Amino acid sequence: MAKKTVKCNFCGRTSDQVPLMLNGIDGYICNECVQQAYNLLQQEGAVSPTPTGTASDARLNLMLPTEIKQKLDEYVIGQNEAKIAMAVAVYNHYKRLNQETDDNDVEIEKSNIIMLGSTGTGKTLLARTVAKLLQVPFAIVDATVLTEAGYVGEDVESILTRLLQAADYDQKKAERGIVFIDEIDKIARKGDNPSITRDVSGEGVQQGLLKLLEGSVVNVPPKGGRKHPDQEYVHLDTHNILFICGGAFEGIERKIAQRLNTHTVGYNNVQIRHNLDSRNLMQYVQPQDLRKFGLIPELIGRLPVVTYLHPLDREALRNILTEPKNSLIRQQKKLFKMDGVELEFTDDALEAMVDKAIERGLGARGLRGIVEAVMTDLQFSTPGTDRKEITITREYVLEQLKKSEVL
Ligand code: ADP
Repeated sequence: MAKKTVKCNFCGRTSDQVPLMLNGIDGYICNECVQQAYNLLQQEGAVSPTPTGTASDARLNLMLPTEIKQKLDEYVIGQNEAKIAMAVAVYNHYKRLNQETDDNDVEIEKSNIIMLGSTGTGKTLLARTVAKLLQVPFAIVDATVLTEAGYVGEDVESILTRLLQAADYDQKKAERGIVFIDEIDKIARKGDNPSITRDVSGEGVQQGLLKLLEGSVVNVPPKGGRKHPDQEYVHLDTHNILFICGGAFEGIERKIAQRLNTHTVGYNNVQIRHNLDSRNLMQYVQPQDLRKFGLIPELIGRLPVVTYLHPLDREALRNILTEPKNSLIRQQKKLFKMDGVELEFTDDALEAMVDKAIERGLGARGLRGIVEAVMTDLQFSTPGTDRKEITITREYVLEQLKKSEVL
């Protein structure tokens, strides 16, 4: 039976001219007119943002926690606990922003995050990916360069200068951005007790960070550098800036072990009372361990979401090489494809690169240098030749790595 052709009562298009025709009581409307009506309503501010990744929120690209996690999976291998903690925290943070004006009775507090994990396990990558997903400005700062005002080093306000720069000096945008403070463990107070002598690079900096993290209006020198009286400042409100801190916290396992089982000496041979995984104690981290490590309680209080990243094992390193959307191997393939060459790697070639990364002990950070060392010769000699296919074998990897190490 032939399909009946109907017409849109708004624009007159027929059902075979459009992908979708909606049927009303006494007429029809096509998908294009629905879209146009929706756009108009948005312009008039007559639609409320819905928390789905597809509906465009005028203020923010708001995504559900499950959608955030799914997206993170595309770029970051493993680290499930951190991804979930991050997805929930970010979702709550932006929910809080969107509700702030119309609901003042229950104030949702900021969900700043602290992530523990050895170097090269994906802390920065996670923070960067979240910022990219949400399309908000993102700045990375290293806590080790910060010092208390008046000493050699950078003032804590310089953190916000970076964010302002990342937002192209759009203050409103910067005020909804994300800041990643790396190496937060390096500004820990040395020892458990408050210091008697001045501690310019530790406790003083932690104190300085407090006002940024909790939310206040901060005078930011737009060009960075030291504050001085004649300078013009941007008054940046940090209430809605999400802070994510990261650090390796080397040795915190000892504090965790002490808390979990106070009878043991040395954490390597902990006789854990409960059924715990003694090889990876970081997963049991609690705020009180951070305090023992040397973070001041006020700072810990402003970092309510505590999460951790696993050390990367062999399998994770192997996956990092090939799985993420912009993995190192995919990038190489793309580079060669642009010269018309199909690049392949044998499995044992990939294994050989992973072996080297493990030997160097730099986590995933080491992989990039290794891939570069293996590929540079070919990247130099292939363009301009008529080669159409190249397969990288284990022998070739070993040969190139050996060469790069002799040099
Ligand atoms: P961290 O901040 O923990 O020291 P990074 O996030 O800077 O480590 O990681 C360094 C590089 O290693 C990243 O750019 C990324 O290419 C890779 N990497 C690290 N961890 C992962 C992971 N879990 N998944 C995918 N890539 C990773």
